[in-house]
Amino acid sequence: MDDLRNYIGGQFVAHSSSQWLDNLEPATGSHICRVPLSDASDIDAAVAAARAAQPAWGALSHSERADWLDRIADALEARYEEVATLESRDTGKPITLARGVDAHRSVSNFRFFAGMLREHEHEIFEMANATNYVINKPVGVGALITPWNLPLYLLSWKVAPAIGMGNTVVCKPSELTPLTADLLMRVIDEVSLPAGVVNLVHGDGAGAGAPLVADSDVDLVSFTGGTATGEKVAASAAPAFKKLSLELGGKNSSIVFADCDMESTVAGVVRAGFLNQGQVCLCGSRVLVEDSAYDEFRDRFVEAVEEMRIGDPSDEATDLGALISESHLAKVQGYVELAKREGGALLTGGTSCVPSGFEGGNWMAPTVIEGLSPDSRCATEEIFGPVVTIHPFSSEDEAVAIANNTRYGLAGSVWTSDLDKGRRVSEAIDTGMVWVNTWLHRDLRVPFGGVKDSGVGREGGKWSLGFFSEAMNVCVKHD
Ligand code: NDP
Repeated sequence: MDDLRNYIGGQFVAHSSSQWLDNLEPATGSHICRVPLSDASDIDAAVAAARAAQPAWGALSHSERADWLDRIADALEARYEEVATLESRDTGKPITLARGVDAHRSVSNFRFFAGMLREHEHEIFEMANATNYVINKPVGVGALITPWNLPLYLLSWKVAPAIGMGNTVVCKPSELTPLTADLLMRVIDEVSLPAGVVNLVHGDGAGAGAPLVADSDVDLVSFTGGTATGEKVAASAAPAFKKLSLELGGKNSSIVFADCDMESTVAGVVRAGFLNQGQVCLCGSRVLVEDSAYDEFRDRFVEAVEEMRIGDPSDEATDLGALISESHLAKVQGYVELAKREGGALLTGGTSCVPSGFEGGNWMAPTVIEGLSPDSRCATEEIFGPVVTIHPFSSEDEAVAIANNTRYGLAGSVWTSDLDKGRRVSEAIDTGMVWVNTWLHRDLRVPFGGVKDSGVGREGGKWSLGFFSEAMNVCVKHD
């Protein structure tokens, strides 16, 4: 594959330095392509292009911009299989997941926000002698920074509402997974989106991400990534009062009550724990089980985990692929070693499991650990890999206390046949989102985001439109 290039002002351009990053395939360790190691001068050029394009783009109507989003959706949909294949290769995730989740959602993000823009109406508040109407103006130039686990899914989730509301943007995807961001730029080029509306700079966090957030001509920052990076982003953006949305890490609980439907719960909790090799911010990496059902659930859960097929990501039968990088694999394995020191017992996994022919890749067997204190580091810190800890509880209050006993507050799930209990427990959990008897069941209209160290702000549906715009009230006195 050819070296990648930045996309600035409607052109694929060389970066200013002569330095490159190597993009490696997680499943094999083989070299895919070289990625520009861009620096602050590339960021300056991209921000200048975005700034120059903003007035004309911001002056279009919502429905004109919605038409552009639909053109991008159509062009992406025509490349559906290419999106899935690139995403699977770049991330190590199974091709079926890349098709059903990444390729599918990337298209529907553009279509969904096109529809929302067309329906968007000014809010009106009548007074006895005046009328207030609220308009949503563009914020200006947005910095969109995304992680490696759901590359195009998350990038499109930001680009669509950001440009839909009249902003122009500079994207900085993860250096580890640049392929579908590059594809999106090719699609944008193909549909002839006005130059400078969407720009993309490849590079690492320190060299490209940090200068982008700090750039004085950037008005808004939408960041999805780890909590430690989020702290740096917030510290850099706050003094300039930039509009800021942070979608950060999670340590989510799946709470299983004895009255659940055991079969569907086991399947649902396995999916919540291990989808994308556990590398989803919403993954239920702590399973809390009511003590009267603990033994039965644990045994069936472990059996189901052991049935998952690990292997070639391009094989349709594969359930679990590779982890993103050698260093991430080492971090996840480090947590397994820590769990042993913290008194945990491995019920399954904990080892490397390299499929034949994939010796250079980053492979790990799905791992289930019991016997850890709910206060232990492995039960409270984000591992972000195929590692689930399992803990008994004896009352609703105890389940809620364990679920809330972490610095994170992103998501969770509750499994019970008593829906009143499901709602009661859900509402007591300090997170931004909870599912009852399901997980990752997404309606794009609902708010998405976390509390505590899982982030600040909400995106999704009208919350995205609100974040990517400035609400302005105009009060007109009647005669
Ligand atoms: P990182 O925080 O390491 O990186 C996220 C992005 O930020 C990357 O593009 C990275 O660049 C960039 N970056 C790194 N340093 C800086 C900086 N100083 N200034 C600006 N940008 C910077 O996260 P990961 O990519 O490792 O992603 C995994 C994390 O993302 C997990 O914690 C996960 O929970 C979280 N996440 C949260 C989601 C949510 O919606 N809440 C959804 C998905 C993931 P580069 O990688 O090129 O160095």
